[in-house]
Amino acid sequence: MENDPKLHQVALEAKSPFELRVDLGRHVPETEVRAALASGDMGFLHSFTTGSAVDGPGVRVVAWLTGCQFRCLYCHNPDTWNMMNGVPVTLERAKTQLGKYRHGLRIMKGGFTVSGGEPLMQHRFVLKLLTAAQAMGIHTALDTNGCLGVRLTDQDLERIDLVLLDIKAWDQERHRQLTGMDSGPVLDFARRLAARRSPVWLRYVLVPGWTDDPDDIARLAEFTAGLGNVERVDVLPLHQMGAFKWKQLGIDYKLQDVEPPSKETVERTCARFRAAGLKVY
Ligand code: SF4
Repeated sequence: MENDPKLHQVALEAKSPFELRVDLGRHVPETEVRAALASGDMGFLHSFTTGSAVDGPGVRVVAWLTGCQFRCLYCHNPDTWNMMNGVPVTLERAKTQLGKYRHGLRIMKGGFTVSGGEPLMQHRFVLKLLTAAQAMGIHTALDTNGCLGVRLTDQDLERIDLVLLDIKAWDQERHRQLTGMDSGPVLDFARRLAARRSPVWLRYVLVPGWTDDPDDIARLAEFTAGLGNVERVDVLPLHQMGAFKWKQLGIDYKLQDVEPPSKETVERTCARFRAAGLKVY
């Protein structure tokens, strides 16, 4: 695969994950996809982006992987749901790409974040990439919905300096409606990270009418504070920057008419997390 010219046609770098990318891995035979997932020697990526200040401490390079088992109603990047929309990238190419930034990242006290999609859909590739990043002296972060945390051994977790854990909703039925999946495995993963004192930042997308219920937020804040390892909470107001992707992909976007939360709602939500003793940004 390394010498396959198709693998080198598409630029790995994107200005942002909001570039629509589709069908870039469709030509890869199924047997090779299976082999890649089993070995982790090839992955499927939407892109690499640079200069992020919101995906972990300092300035980050972010690898956006394709493939996700959730179907969040507010997803900003539905083109990452299907793994085959991503660029097939050998581990060596991804490591070379990351290596370009190693000195800058170390000087700026930044790091490397793997996001998606849900990166743990390709957990072997992710672990090999994070291992390579740590070997370069780069801080590593994993942005995950947590549902596949069970795929990671304790040894694997050593390769991750920080977990950015997305908890989509506290109420179980609401979580199912919002994502299509149960929250149980997510909360189990949160508890496991807490038991081993792994640093976590919680990410919570605030969606009016969906995730702004004050009682649910208070319960989530209580749970989060009780874990004891959550260093900060990022409250992320809904935005509509990815809405065009739903339209172009021909998927029904149910939140089209939902306005971003008001400043007061955002502040009230942050206050509930703070009241539980958490640092909020
Ligand atoms: S987990 Fe992330 S990538 Fe997956 S559907 Fe939800 S928002 Fe989109």
